[in-house]
Amino acid sequence: MAGVVDRGPQLNKKIAVIGAGYAGMAAAVALVDAGHEVTVFETSRVLGGRARKVESNLGTIDNGQHILIGAYRDTLALMHKVGVSEADAFLRLPLTLRYPGFKLQAPRLPAPLHLALALLTAQGLRWSEKLAAMRFMQWLQQRDFRLEVDGTVSALLDAHAQPQVLRRHMWEPLCIGALNTPSETASAQVFANVLRDSLAADRAASDLLIPRLDLSALLAEPAARYVERKGGQVRLSSAVGSIVRTDGGYRLDIDPDVEYSHVIVAVAPYHLPRLLAGLPELAPLIAQVEALAWEPIVTCYLRYPPGTRLPHPMLGMSDGNAHWFFDRGQLDDTSEQNEGLIAAVTSARGRHQELGKEALAAAIDAELRTLHPGLPAPLSSQVITEKRATFACTPNLQRPATQTALPGLLLAGDYVASDYPATIEGAVRSGLQAAAVV
Ligand SMILES: Cc1cc2nc3c(=O)[nH]c(=O)nc-3n(C[C@H](O)[C@H](O)[C@H](O)COP(=O)(O)OP(=O)(O)OC[C@H]3O[C@@H](n4cnc5c(N)ncnc54)[C@H](O)[C@@H]3O)c2cc1C
Repeated sequence: MAGVVDRGPQLNKKIAVIGAGYAGMAAAVALVDAGHEVTVFETSRVLGGRARKVESNLGTIDNGQHILIGAYRDTLALMHKVGVSEADAFLRLPLTLRYPGFKLQAPRLPAPLHLALALLTAQGLRWSEKLAAMRFMQWLQQRDFRLEVDGTVSALLDAHAQPQVLRRHMWEPLCIGALNTPSETASAQVFANVLRDSLAADRAASDLLIPRLDLSALLAEPAARYVERKGGQVRLSSAVGSIVRTDGGYRLDIDPDVEYSHVIVAVAPYHLPRLLAGLPELAPLIAQVEALAWEPIVTCYLRYPPGTRLPHPMLGMSDGNAHWFFDRGQLDDTSEQNEGLIAAVTSARGRHQELGKEALAAAIDAELRTLHPGLPAPLSSQVITEKRATFACTPNLQRPATQTALPGLLLAGDYVASDYPATIEGAVRSGLQAAAVV
C-alpha cells in the first residue's frame, strides 16, 4: 500500500535475562544474535549455575562432575558458536559401560549396528540376556519410543522381563545417570526419550563427552564474552529481588530506572517462587514449581599422589556409595593440578546420605581399591553435595511451559516442559526456546 512503510518485525527489544546458568546464557546468545539489547543478571560471582567451577584447596574443580553425550546437539552447536572447540572441551569416548565382570562398548559403526554389536559383544551377559535387551529396544523402537501410559522405569523393565544383570549394569545406571532419579520412581517415558536420542540414534549421539575444561569455561564464560562482544551486558554479583509490571513491560528492583519489554526468568526452580512472589498472576505457576521434588548429586574428589592413574578415564561401580569414577588427570593432562585427582559421583538419593563427609570419602576410597588394587593412600579429599541438583523426574510430571500467564515474561531452565530430564541439553534448549518466543 502506497505510503505505508513495512517496518518488519520490531527489533532491538530491551530484554533482561535473570540467571547465568546454561539456560540463561543460551537465551542471551540467541537474543544478541537477533539484534536485541540484552542484560544478564547473575547472583553469583561465577558463571554457570549448577554447572560451574569452584575454587577449592584442590585447585579449580567443578561443583559436580558432569558428563554430556553426543545427542546434546544444541549445547554442542552453541559451544561452537561461542568459539569453544569440541576437541579442547571434551574427551569423546564411544558409549562404554564398564563394571567388574561386565563391559559393553558401542563400536564406531553406523546406527543401529553400533547398538546391536555392542550388545552382541558385551562381556558378562548370556545370550538370553543379550536377546532380552534387544527385544526391549525393538519393542520401544516399534512404537517410536512413545509409551501409551507413563509409569516407572522399574515397572517397564519388569513388564519386559529384563534380567537382573541388565538392570544392574545397563538400564539402571543409564536411568540414574540421565534422569538422576532411581528406577523405582523414574519416569519410563522420559527414560524412553533418552534411549531414543542416545542408544537408538546415530552412533555419535551415544558417545560420552567428558569435559576437559572446567564447567564455567565449557560454555557460560565464552557465552558471556560473546554476548558482551555483541553489545550485551553480563552483570555478576547482581541478584534480582523482585519484578514489577509496568505499562510497557517490566522493571527489576536492581535496575529500577530501566524498563524491559521482556524478562527471561532463567533461575533454578527453587529460586523462582521468591523472585515472582510479587506477581499474583503467577501464583499457579509458583504452586506448580513448589510441587517439584528434588534429587541430590554428590561428587567426592580424592587427591592421590601425582602419577596415580586409573586403568580407564571413567569406571562404573555397582552397588557402591559412588556410581562412577572419573580420572581427571586423564581428562586434562595439561594441568598439574589434575594429576592423581579422581572425581567420584553418586547420583540421586541413597544410603550414602547416611554418612558424614569424611566417612563417605573413606568408603569411596575403599570401593575404588576394589576396582584398582594397589592405589596409594589419598592425600586429601573434598565432598561437594548439591542437595537440589535436579528435580525428581517422576512419571506424568507437570512441568511449566516457556510462556507464563504474563506476556513477555518467559521461563528458561532445565525444569521447563520438554522431552528431556534435568540436563545441560534441556537447559540450553529451554533458553533457545525462550529466545525464539521473544
Ligand atoms: C552435581 C550435578 C551434576 C550434574 N550432572 C549432570 C550431567 O552429568 N549431565 C547433565 O547434562 N546435567 C547434569 N546436571 C544437571 C545440569 O547441571 C543442570 O540441568 C543445568 O546446569 C541447569 O541449568 P539452568 O540454567 O536451568 O539452571 P541453573 O544452572 O540453576 O542456573 C540458574 C542461575 O540463576 C542464578 N540466579 C538464581 N536466582 C537469581 C536471582 N534472583 N537473580 C540473579 N540470578 C539468579 C543462579 O545463581 C544460577 O546461576 C548436574 C547437576 C548437578 C548439580
